[in-house]
Amino acid sequence: MAAPVSVDVLVIGSGASGLAAAVSAHRAGASVALAAKGSLQSCNSAKAQGGIQAAFGDDDSPEQHAEDVWKSSHETADRRLVEVLTGEAPGAIHWLEELGVQFTRENGGYRLAKCGGASRKRLLQVGDRTGHAITAALRDAIEASTVKTFTKSPLSSLEPAANGWRAHCGEHVIETGAVVLAAGGRCYREARERGELSTNHPGATGEVTQMALDLGAESRDLDALQYHPNGGAWPANMQGYSIPETTRAYGATLLNAEREEFTDPLGPRDEVSQAIFDEVASRLPMVGLPFTSTRPGFPRPTRTSRCRTCCAATVPRGSTLCRRRS
Ligand SMILES: Cc1cc2nc3c(=O)[nH]c(=O)nc-3n(C[C@H](O)[C@H](O)[C@H](O)COP(=O)(O)OP(=O)(O)OC[C@H]3O[C@@H](n4cnc5c(N)ncnc54)[C@H](O)[C@@H]3O)c2cc1C
Repeated sequence: MAAPVSVDVLVIGSGASGLAAAVSAHRAGASVALAAKGSLQSCNSAKAQGGIQAAFGDDDSPEQHAEDVWKSSHETADRRLVEVLTGEAPGAIHWLEELGVQFTRENGGYRLAKCGGASRKRLLQVGDRTGHAITAALRDAIEASTVKTFTKSPLSSLEPAANGWRAHCGEHVIETGAVVLAAGGRCYREARERGELSTNHPGATGEVTQMALDLGAESRDLDALQYHPNGGAWPANMQGYSIPETTRAYGATLLNAEREEFTDPLGPRDEVSQAIFDEVASRLPMVGLPFTSTRPGFPRPTRTSRCRTCCAATVPRGSTLCRRRS
């Protein structure tokens, strides 16, 4: 067992939320430690290809953004939290730029795309590797700071202590005044238990949420998981890869086996996902995502991107990506 460490703030998780919390606490003058289950790079945030939303369009506003989120939540979201999210989003984008994130620009402004459930174009991107770019910039900021990082150090227990909290992270015991739990969700474990495909990284198993609940944390909507409408289903080596929403934002449509559009491809994600399941279950045994990569305005994905592999290799122009009912 390593010698105990003592800090003002301990952050659990190295996704965008944990990295941003650690950078912010450090800038505010706190001594900070960050513990992650695997490498710092292993997280869902780094996998996000689609983009990040903020109201920058001439026809847009944080209020309109909040309205869209409210409607997409079927009016069940916490409006106060939604307003913080949408009101602070433009400032968060500028904060990331200050850290070195270079959002893609066109015509003198940000390149904005319209994504599911949005009434305006407000999705900012860094090429097609937005999450990678954001987390890389945040990790650079951490590396240039005095934040102590503990990799391969999963939080296994958290208990109240004299001056705050005592955490066991791998072989480390960390005493801390405050702890930020930013360990992400549980979709990888949930999908594995159900025998379904997941685009999540293997660390998304949710045990930290359970620890927080056991310690009395308030929670809401724990039954709500995000279903991404389209992903790699065939061939087998593409299973579990996400086909980002921008594919639909830039022109891909959802067609059934008779090549009819059966839903708005840019509806809220839960509605689009449900429409796909309904279509497959009730009428036709397959749906597809015909994708015209030569469509004007489609951002050319980088060669290294799985999206490019997926779209170019399995969904050539005019054909369909099929998901068959077994
Ligand atoms: C393929 C894919 C594409 C996506 N695309 C987009 C998109 O385009 N736009 C968008 O807004 N959202 C997108 N999302 C959703 C988005 O990525 C997540 O909502 C966001 O990354 C969550 O950030 P996070 O920091 O909370 O969690 P994560 O990024 O998952 O980070 C969680 C961290 O906690 C660590 N951890 C877990 N358990 C422990 C433990 N016991 N001890 C210590 N550390 C632990 C993990 O190792 C990881 O470092 C996408 C998600 C996926 C999977």
